[in-house]
Amino acid sequence: MSLKKFAKMFSVEPGTKLDLSKNDLRDTSYFESRDEAERSLREDAEAIDELQDRLFAEGKQSLLLVLQATDAAGKDGTIRKVFGPVDPLGLRAHSFKKPTPEELSHDFLWRVHKKVPAKGEIAIFNRSHYEDVLVVRVHGLVDDDVIEARYDQINSFEQLLSSNDTRIIKVFLQVSKEEQRERLQERVDIPAKRWKFNQGDLEERKLWDQYMQAFEIALERCSTAWAPWYVIPADRNWYRNAVVARLVRLTLEDMDPKYPEPDFDPKGIKVK
Ligand code: ATP
Ligand code: MG
Repeated sequence: MSLKKFAKMFSVEPGTKLDLSKNDLRDTSYFESRDEAERSLREDAEAIDELQDRLFAEGKQSLLLVLQATDAAGKDGTIRKVFGPVDPLGLRAHSFKKPTPEELSHDFLWRVHKKVPAKGEIAIFNRSHYEDVLVVRVHGLVDDDVIEARYDQINSFEQLLSSNDTRIIKVFLQVSKEEQRERLQERVDIPAKRWKFNQGDLEERKLWDQYMQAFEIALERCSTAWAPWYVIPADRNWYRNAVVARLVRLTLEDMDPKYPEPDFDPKGIKVK
């Protein structure tokens, strides 16, 4: 399937009205079966590794993958599964947490701009500048007009990156409220998962509807030709991983990085 067809299925068409509550989060229709999805994930992850090698060698363009989701939607797991085989030398993942006082004393894009990928790199944002129109909006951490201005600022920022050879893809991993309940409960019940449990997540969960509304606004206003948003049904991990891997692979194939031509004649050199 081409990137175009994939986008038709999963991307947010610029200018459309979104209703996230309509999405079937247990949908698995992109793949015929779980077996096929798992095979596809393995193949795509290998292909991503190879494409990343070409991207790194070429050194002319970069890829930025933005991951956003509610708690326990599986951002970490997705990164591990999709990028597991990729050479760490050309890959960076960064988690954006609550801003530090220093970060807060700058504009909201300051800390983000420092982490964008250099030429030849893939960077993954585990949360991102979108927090500044999501959690910040839901909790009213800054004035409404400040938030209002941020959507255009984000679009301009992403356009700047895009016109400087950074390809941007943004993924919203959408889980249902019930699936989140089960996963948070697991974090309480299973000893090896307890370190992930955060009391604060229960408070955020109470604001579920406000978060969904904030996501709808952000995705509607910031899905652009140069930095599209994709909404991936994420109630089933195996499906989520395989679909994200396919998106990353198709995007890298579309970027078509090439090994540079050698600046010497290989025929004329014999290593002794
Ligand atoms: P996990 O899903 O494994 O819990 P996480 O990404 O939720 O990982 P945490 O340390 O639990 O990591 O949470 C980071 C917190 O920081 C989130 O609640 C997020 O909303 C918050 N945060 C990130 N950026 C900002 C921001 N710009 N302003 C306010 N809060 C932010
Ligand atoms: Mg958390």
